[in-house]
Amino acid sequence: MIAAGVESVVLLGRVGVRVSLLPATGYSVTASGTGTVPVHPVKLIEANLACSPFDGGLRLSGMFELGVRRDHVRARALRRITASAGRYLRDWEPVEDGVAIAGMRPATPDSLPLIGPVPGRDGVFTATGHGTLGLTLAPATAAALAPQVLHGVTAPEFGPFALGRFAGGPAAGTRPARRGLRCGSARRSVVAHIGSTRSPPVARRRVGPVR
Ligand SMILES: Cc1cc2nc3c(=O)[nH]c(=O)nc-3n(C[C@H](O)[C@H](O)[C@H](O)COP(=O)(O)OP(=O)(O)OC[C@H]3O[C@@H](n4cnc5c(N)ncnc54)[C@H](O)[C@@H]3O)c2cc1C
Repeated sequence: MIAAGVESVVLLGRVGVRVSLLPATGYSVTASGTGTVPVHPVKLIEANLACSPFDGGLRLSGMFELGVRRDHVRARALRRITASAGRYLRDWEPVEDGVAIAGMRPATPDSLPLIGPVPGRDGVFTATGHGTLGLTLAPATAAALAPQVLHGVTAPEFGPFALGRFAGGPAAGTRPARRGLRCGSARRSVVAHIGSTRSPPVARRRVGPVR
Protein backbone atom coordinates (compact mmCIF):
# COMPACT_ATOMS: atom_id res chain seq x y z
CA MET A 1 0.00 0.00 0.00
CA ILE A 2 1.42 3.34 -1.02
CA ALA A 3 -0.17 6.00 1.16
CA ALA A 4 2.64 8.43 1.87
CA GLY A 5 1.03 11.77 1.18
CA VAL A 6 3.08 13.99 -1.13
CA GLU A 7 5.91 11.43 -1.02
CA SER A 8 3.64 8.90 -2.73
CA VAL A 9 4.74 10.37 -6.02
CA VAL A 10 8.28 9.19 -5.31
CA LEU A 11 7.23 5.70 -4.20
CA LEU A 12 4.91 5.29 -7.16
CA GLY A 13 7.74 6.46 -9.40
CA ARG A 14 9.90 3.65 -8.03
CA VAL A 15 7.39 1.10 -9.30
CA GLY A 16 7.27 2.85 -12.66
CA VAL A 17 4.01 4.77 -12.25
CA ARG A 18 3.84 8.51 -12.73
CA VAL A 19 0.96 10.43 -11.25
CA SER A 20 -0.04 14.07 -11.08
CA LEU A 21 0.37 14.98 -7.45
CA LEU A 22 1.65 18.24 -6.03
CA PRO A 23 2.18 19.49 -2.50
CA ALA A 24 -0.19 22.25 -1.39
CA THR A 25 1.22 23.82 1.72
CA GLY A 26 -1.11 25.18 4.37
CA TYR A 27 -0.82 26.49 7.90
CA SER A 28 -2.79 26.58 11.08
CA VAL A 29 -2.40 28.30 14.40
CA THR A 30 -4.09 27.38 17.66
CA ALA A 31 -4.25 29.92 20.46
CA SER A 32 -6.33 30.85 23.45
CA GLY A 33 -7.75 34.30 23.77
CA THR A 34 -10.49 36.55 25.05
CA GLY A 35 -13.77 37.45 23.48
CA THR A 36 -16.27 35.52 21.50
CA VAL A 37 -15.20 32.20 20.03
CA PRO A 38 -17.51 30.39 17.61
CA VAL A 39 -19.18 27.44 19.34
CA HIS A 40 -19.03 25.36 16.14
CA PRO A 41 -16.38 25.01 13.48
CA VAL A 42 -16.93 27.74 10.92
CA LYS A 43 -15.71 28.01 7.35
CA LEU A 44 -15.02 31.60 6.36
CA ILE A 45 -15.67 31.28 2.66
CA GLU A 46 -14.47 34.66 1.42
CA ALA A 47 -11.30 34.50 3.49
CA ASN A 48 -10.92 30.80 2.71
CA LEU A 49 -10.20 29.96 6.31
CA ALA A 50 -11.36 27.32 8.74
CA CYS A 51 -12.03 28.48 12.24
CA SER A 52 -12.57 25.88 14.97
CA PRO A 53 -13.03 26.08 18.72
CA PHE A 54 -10.21 23.98 20.07
CA ASP A 55 -9.22 23.06 23.63
CA GLY A 56 -10.71 26.27 25.00
CA GLY A 57 -9.03 28.32 22.30
CA LEU A 58 -9.34 28.82 18.60
CA ARG A 59 -7.70 27.10 15.65
CA LEU A 60 -7.38 28.98 12.39
CA SER A 61 -6.31 27.11 9.26
CA GLY A 62 -5.77 28.27 5.73
CA MET A 63 -3.58 28.87 2.66
CA PHE A 64 -3.10 26.54 -0.28
CA GLU A 65 0.35 27.13 -1.70
CA LEU A 66 0.25 24.85 -4.68
CA GLY A 67 3.59 23.39 -5.71
CA VAL A 68 5.31 24.65 -2.59
CA ARG A 69 7.25 22.12 -0.51
CA ARG A 70 7.58 23.76 2.85
CA ASP A 71 8.00 21.97 6.15
CA HIS A 72 8.25 25.04 8.32
CA VAL A 73 5.85 27.72 9.38
CA ARG A 74 5.96 30.98 7.43
CA ALA A 75 5.37 33.89 9.76
CA ARG A 76 3.91 36.06 7.01
CA ALA A 77 1.35 33.39 6.17
CA LEU A 78 0.29 33.19 9.81
CA ARG A 79 -0.12 36.96 9.98
CA ARG A 80 -2.25 36.84 6.89
CA ILE A 81 -4.43 34.06 8.31
CA THR A 82 -5.00 35.77 11.64
CA ALA A 83 -5.58 39.17 10.06
CA SER A 84 -8.13 37.72 7.65
CA ALA A 85 -9.94 35.90 10.44
CA GLY A 86 -9.93 39.03 12.57
CA ARG A 87 -12.35 40.68 10.18
CA TYR A 88 -14.96 38.08 11.11
CA LEU A 89 -14.21 37.47 14.78
CA ARG A 90 -15.84 40.47 16.33
CA ASP A 91 -13.96 40.76 19.61
CA TRP A 92 -11.71 37.75 19.86
CA GLU A 93 -8.14 38.58 20.89
CA PRO A 94 -5.35 36.06 21.41
CA VAL A 95 -3.83 36.30 24.89
CA GLU A 96 -0.95 33.86 24.68
CA ASP A 97 1.48 32.26 22.34
CA GLY A 98 -0.09 29.93 19.85
CA VAL A 99 1.09 26.68 18.35
CA ALA A 100 1.53 26.96 14.61
CA ILE A 101 1.87 24.18 12.08
CA ALA A 102 2.72 23.87 8.42
CA GLY A 103 1.73 20.85 6.37
CA MET A 104 1.76 19.70 2.76
CA ARG A 105 -1.52 18.41 1.42
CA PRO A 106 -1.26 15.94 -1.46
CA ALA A 107 -3.18 17.65 -4.28
CA THR A 108 -4.32 16.35 -7.68
CA PRO A 109 -5.31 18.45 -10.72
CA ASP A 110 -8.98 17.44 -10.52
CA SER A 111 -9.19 17.58 -6.72
CA LEU A 112 -10.07 13.88 -6.54
CA PRO A 113 -7.88 11.40 -4.67
CA LEU A 114 -5.86 8.59 -6.21
CA ILE A 115 -7.24 5.33 -4.83
CA GLY A 116 -6.99 1.77 -6.08
CA PRO A 117 -4.65 -0.79 -7.61
CA VAL A 118 -1.37 0.38 -9.09
CA PRO A 119 -1.49 -0.53 -12.79
CA GLY A 120 0.85 -3.31 -13.77
CA ARG A 121 1.84 -4.08 -10.18
CA ASP A 122 -0.10 -6.99 -8.76
CA GLY A 123 -0.90 -6.59 -5.10
CA VAL A 124 0.21 -2.96 -4.91
CA PHE A 125 -2.42 -0.36 -4.05
CA THR A 126 -2.39 3.33 -3.38
CA ALA A 127 -4.52 5.78 -1.42
CA THR A 128 -3.35 9.35 -1.64
CA GLY A 129 -4.16 12.75 -3.14
CA HIS A 130 -6.94 13.64 -0.69
CA GLY A 131 -5.89 17.29 -0.65
CA THR A 132 -7.71 19.36 1.94
CA LEU A 133 -9.88 16.43 3.06
CA GLY A 134 -7.44 13.70 3.98
CA LEU A 135 -8.39 13.49 7.63
CA THR A 136 -12.08 13.49 6.84
CA LEU A 137 -11.85 10.91 4.07
CA ALA A 138 -9.22 8.54 5.46
CA PRO A 139 -11.63 6.23 7.34
CA ALA A 140 -14.02 5.91 4.39
CA THR A 141 -11.11 5.35 2.02
CA ALA A 142 -9.71 2.57 4.17
CA ALA A 143 -13.10 0.93 4.69
CA ALA A 144 -13.90 0.90 0.98
CA LEU A 145 -10.42 -0.17 -0.11
CA ALA A 146 -9.99 -3.02 2.38
CA PRO A 147 -12.24 -5.53 0.55
CA GLN A 148 -10.31 -4.90 -2.64
CA VAL A 149 -6.95 -5.41 -0.96
CA LEU A 150 -8.01 -8.44 1.06
CA HIS A 151 -10.43 -10.20 -1.26
CA GLY A 152 -10.00 -8.64 -4.70
CA VAL A 153 -13.51 -7.21 -4.59
CA THR A 154 -13.47 -4.04 -6.68
CA ALA A 155 -15.57 -1.19 -5.39
CA PRO A 156 -17.26 0.47 -8.41
CA GLU A 157 -17.31 3.84 -6.65
CA PHE A 158 -13.52 3.97 -6.97
CA GLY A 159 -13.74 4.39 -10.76
CA PRO A 160 -13.27 8.19 -10.74
CA PHE A 161 -10.23 7.82 -8.48
CA ALA A 162 -8.27 5.38 -10.67
CA LEU A 163 -4.59 6.14 -11.17
CA GLY A 164 -4.84 5.82 -14.93
CA ARG A 165 -7.08 8.85 -15.36
CA PHE A 166 -4.22 11.24 -16.02
CA ALA A 167 -2.59 9.04 -18.64
CA GLY A 168 -1.11 11.31 -21.27
CA GLY A 169 -1.23 14.35 -19.01
CA PRO A 170 1.66 16.01 -17.23
CA ALA A 171 3.37 13.64 -14.86
CA ALA A 172 4.05 14.51 -11.29
CA GLY A 173 7.57 15.64 -10.67
CA THR A 174 7.93 16.98 -14.19
CA ARG A 175 6.20 20.25 -13.43
CA PRO A 176 8.32 23.03 -11.98
CA ALA A 177 7.32 23.96 -8.47
CA ARG A 178 5.58 27.31 -8.49
CA ARG A 179 6.38 28.98 -5.27
CA GLY A 180 3.61 30.82 -3.59
CA LEU A 181 1.05 30.19 -6.28
CA ARG A 182 -2.40 30.00 -4.80
CA CYS A 183 -4.81 27.79 -6.57
CA GLY A 184 -8.02 29.49 -7.63
CA SER A 185 -10.22 26.42 -7.51
CA ALA A 186 -12.51 25.09 -4.85
CA ARG A 187 -9.48 23.09 -3.77
CA ARG A 188 -8.39 26.11 -1.78
CA SER A 189 -10.86 25.29 0.86
CA VAL A 190 -9.73 24.02 4.20
CA VAL A 191 -12.30 22.09 6.11
CA ALA A 192 -12.73 22.48 9.80
CA HIS A 193 -11.14 19.84 11.86
CA ILE A 194 -14.46 18.76 13.26
CA GLY A 195 -14.38 16.67 16.37
CA SER A 196 -10.77 15.74 16.00
CA THR A 197 -7.69 16.57 17.95
CA ARG A 198 -5.38 15.05 15.37
CA SER A 199 -3.18 17.37 13.41
CA PRO A 200 -2.01 16.92 9.84
CA PRO A 201 1.59 16.00 8.98
CA VAL A 202 3.34 19.02 10.06
CA ALA A 203 6.16 21.09 11.25
CA ARG A 204 5.25 22.74 14.52
CA ARG A 205 6.66 25.68 16.32
CA ARG A 206 5.53 27.98 19.02
CA VAL A 207 4.89 31.46 17.84
CA GLY A 208 4.33 34.77 19.52
CA PRO A 209 0.89 36.21 20.11
CA VAL A 210 -1.13 35.78 16.95
CA ARG A 211 -2.25 39.19 15.77
C1 LIG B 1 -3.15 23.39 7.89
C2 LIG B 1 -3.90 22.18 7.43
C3 LIG B 1 -5.17 21.93 7.90
C4 LIG B 1 -5.86 20.80 7.48
N1 LIG B 1 -7.10 20.59 7.97
C5 LIG B 1 -7.78 19.51 7.57
C6 LIG B 1 -9.09 19.27 8.08
O1 LIG B 1 -9.61 20.01 8.90
N2 LIG B 1 -9.76 18.19 7.64
C7 LIG B 1 -9.24 17.32 6.73
O2 LIG B 1 -9.89 16.37 6.35
N3 LIG B 1 -7.99 17.51 6.23
C8 LIG B 1 -7.28 18.59 6.62
N4 LIG B 1 -6.04 18.82 6.11
C9 LIG B 1 -5.53 17.94 5.05
C10 LIG B 1 -4.93 16.67 5.62
O3 LIG B 1 -3.95 16.97 6.58
C11 LIG B 1 -4.30 15.87 4.47
O4 LIG B 1 -5.25 15.66 3.45
C12 LIG B 1 -3.85 14.52 4.98
O5 LIG B 1 -2.85 14.69 5.98
C13 LIG B 1 -3.29 13.65 3.87
O6 LIG B 1 -3.12 12.37 4.44
P1 LIG B 1 -2.12 11.31 3.82
O7 LIG B 1 -2.12 10.15 4.74
O8 LIG B 1 -2.41 11.12 2.37
O9 LIG B 1 -0.70 12.01 3.85
P2 LIG B 1 0.12 12.45 5.14
O10 LIG B 1 -0.77 12.88 6.23
O11 LIG B 1 1.17 13.38 4.62
O12 LIG B 1 0.81 11.10 5.65
C14 LIG B 1 1.80 10.49 4.89
C15 LIG B 1 2.66 9.67 5.84
O13 LIG B 1 3.56 8.90 5.06
C16 LIG B 1 4.83 8.96 5.67
N5 LIG B 1 5.84 8.69 4.65
C17 LIG B 1 6.30 9.53 3.68
N6 LIG B 1 7.22 8.91 2.92
C18 LIG B 1 7.34 7.65 3.41
C19 LIG B 1 8.14 6.53 3.06
N7 LIG B 1 9.00 6.57 2.04
N8 LIG B 1 8.02 5.40 3.78
C20 LIG B 1 7.14 5.34 4.82
N9 LIG B 1 6.35 6.37 5.20
C21 LIG B 1 6.46 7.51 4.50
C22 LIG B 1 4.90 10.35 6.24
O14 LIG B 1 5.87 10.41 7.25
C23 LIG B 1 3.50 10.53 6.77
O15 LIG B 1 3.38 10.01 8.07
C24 LIG B 1 -5.29 19.92 6.54
C25 LIG B 1 -4.01 20.15 6.06
C26 LIG B 1 -3.31 21.27 6.51
C27 LIG B 1 -1.92 21.52 5.99
